[in-house]
Amino acid sequence: MRTYLVTGGAGFIGSNYIHYMFRKYDNEIRIINVDALTYAGNLENLKDIENRDNYTFIRADITDKEAITKIFTENDIDRVVHFAAESHVDRSIKHPEVFVNTNVLGTAVMLNCAKAAWELPDGSFREGKKFLHVSTDEVYGSLPDDGTSYFYETTPYSPHSPYSASKASSDLLVKAYVDTYHFPANITNCSNNYGPYQFPEKLIPLIINNALQGKKLPVYGDGMNIRDWLYVDDHAKGIDMVQENGRLGETYNIGGHNEKRNIEIINIILDTLQEILPDDDPRKKNVSKDLITYVEDRKGHDRRYAIAPDKIKAEIGWEPETMFAEGIKKTIRWYLDHEDWMKNVTSGDYQKYYTDMYEGR
Ligand code: NAD
Repeated sequence: MRTYLVTGGAGFIGSNYIHYMFRKYDNEIRIINVDALTYAGNLENLKDIENRDNYTFIRADITDKEAITKIFTENDIDRVVHFAAESHVDRSIKHPEVFVNTNVLGTAVMLNCAKAAWELPDGSFREGKKFLHVSTDEVYGSLPDDGTSYFYETTPYSPHSPYSASKASSDLLVKAYVDTYHFPANITNCSNNYGPYQFPEKLIPLIINNALQGKKLPVYGDGMNIRDWLYVDDHAKGIDMVQENGRLGETYNIGGHNEKRNIEIINIILDTLQEILPDDDPRKKNVSKDLITYVEDRKGHDRRYAIAPDKIKAEIGWEPETMFAEGIKKTIRWYLDHEDWMKNVTSGDYQKYYTDMYEGR
């Protein structure tokens, strides 16, 4: 039975990945989820699996070398899947140092502890041990709005926000471990994810949540920035396929060629809500395009991201399964059916964050 150490498993993608892995492997694997439970981590995301015998949650900070060493010492870890990070660009603009600490130092601690646990006296690594570092397409910078250029694995890094700079730094550390020690690692750089359990500071859940309450829908700048959207289960599948079938030491881009302008996303959400909410649902009357409010652009806002997934398709046979039209409906339905989840995560600190970010603009 393979043992996985998943960091950041209480967050958006990490929790979806854990669900995906138990659906796929059931009792053939064991997962240890290590998460500091920051504002973005929520154990409710994992409620339905928390009592499994082959699942353990450990609350720890990835920058805490002693805590991470203890986990490696007490468990024979076969796979690390490293999601834990500070992940929101707007927060990184306000507090860059928090991002350097978690994303750069935290990744260094994870690499160092895995290396210490897996390295043999001759400097090689124990058979079958693998580390996968989950990263973003934002490390490549911004593309022209031409619809023809793409990010490849060979595209030079050119991060613009403190978030993407910290993720780029963590990627480079992983590459350095591969080059220096032949450390058994892979990196995946994925485009924007959407799906259940995403914290509503990010575009799609923010718009759904605000629209249902008749609150303003803030749109940065001219709303024409382009992101390449992927349903979160397709990302989870890509991570698993890269870890099992990828060439060690290699980077794989993950994306489904699904570019959309931010304003397009907002209109799709509003149209879908109008279509699927029953007429007698009191929230339906709140949903209106009049709520769209253009606000001052994000500092250093990248114009366009677009992934070329040629390598992962050709080498590993990964393909996205969920088309956007279907995925967005599924996602909206999930948020409609999980109002309590939304209420819980948007209570307390979220209110202060939201007011600081958007009110009074
Ligand atoms: P998230 O913010 O929803 O979750 C991050 C998780 O990490 C939370 O559970 C949080 O509690 C935990 N965490 C934060 N700091 C920690 C620390 N110091 N120690 C231990 N745990 C800590 O993020 P997400 O959107 O799920 O992203 C997960 C990973 O995927 C990140 O590395 C991110 O860069 C990458 N990624 C995200 C996207 C996207 O669209 N969301 C796209 C590509 C790559």
